[in-house]
Amino acid sequence: MIPFLDLGAGYRELEHEIDSAIKRVLTSGWYILGEEVEHFEAEYAAYCDASETVSVANGLDALILSLRALGIGPGDEVIVPSNTFIATWLAVSAVGAKAVPVEPDPRYHNIDAELIVAAITKRTKAVIVVHLYGQPVDLDSIKNITASHGLALIEDAAQAHGALYRGKRIGAHGDLVCWSFYPAKNLGAYGDGGAVTTCNQALAANIRLLRNYGSKEKYRNEVQGVNSRLDPVQAAVLRVKLKYLDEWNGRRKTIAGEYLSALGDLDLALPEVPDWADPVWHLFVIKSHDREALQKRLSDQGVSTQIHYPLAPFQQQAYASAAESYGALPIAEKISSEVLSLPIGPHQSEDHTAKIIAAVRVAARRD
Ligand SMILES: *Cc1c(COP(=O)(O)O)cnc(C)c1O
Repeated sequence: MIPFLDLGAGYRELEHEIDSAIKRVLTSGWYILGEEVEHFEAEYAAYCDASETVSVANGLDALILSLRALGIGPGDEVIVPSNTFIATWLAVSAVGAKAVPVEPDPRYHNIDAELIVAAITKRTKAVIVVHLYGQPVDLDSIKNITASHGLALIEDAAQAHGALYRGKRIGAHGDLVCWSFYPAKNLGAYGDGGAVTTCNQALAANIRLLRNYGSKEKYRNEVQGVNSRLDPVQAAVLRVKLKYLDEWNGRRKTIAGEYLSALGDLDLALPEVPDWADPVWHLFVIKSHDREALQKRLSDQGVSTQIHYPLAPFQQQAYASAAESYGALPIAEKISSEVLSLPIGPHQSEDHTAKIIAAVRVAARRD
């Protein structure tokens, strides 16, 4: 079976560097926050063109602490994409606010800037955009809307490490940019990890306080914080992998280019890239009216695929109690019934890419 993503191959390529980075932490005798984490934070901020990185325990916490730092809570509304990984919604729910879904542009799968204004009420405090599948949203249009309505803009960039919007890295276009370093992300740790990048010093300081028990000085607690820290072993791994991020994203881009040029004549919708975006191809998502059959035919030919996501958040049991309040969200529903992610990753061989292309060509053929 051709794997969907081979994470072990990533470790093997960098084995010596990773091992010595981990060993450096183990021998240092320092296992929470400290220098290794600070170095990673500085390096990631520089990479993202942000002035600050505050690392946290995972991507969900990055979103939750961002909302808390902005003072968002019960009674507030936050606009979110109708189609996203559920973490985007769970963060809003976790602070007691209401997630208000806005439909995506079906070409790009990202929140449709033109539909945001109609969803704004006097309770709206923020918009969370998601650079889904590694492709940036139309940030300029959305920033115009958030600025003119006095709303905060949070970017869920968990799938977009290294992506560019109009030539500028994702990392500080919005007020707060949230990252996950879950192993399968473009920049992934060997465990959980997350961060917030920003150019807003006050918000960064607030998140820094919240992630560590509300404490700057040991046993002095200014606010009721949480324990959400990136551990130094993961920080050391991420420092190594950050050096290879652009190269590894480049390999994904090569594979995406091959898929795009080899599959364009089939009865499938291929990803479309708007002129503002330089995506990092976290996922390569095609759409088919007969997705289940296509997935089975690919699996029969030894090609693993995945679905991102089979159910949108509002279709999940977790949100069943509020389902009626969302109204009809037909675009997200259609997307979740049609999407199929082909294998892509920095360690996918040319041979595998060729086999996947051949298998898709067979599987998509009309009988
Ligand atoms: C992975 C992901 C998250 C959550 O990250 P974790 O580190 O798993 O908590 C949030 N949003 C999106 C869009 C993601 O893909």
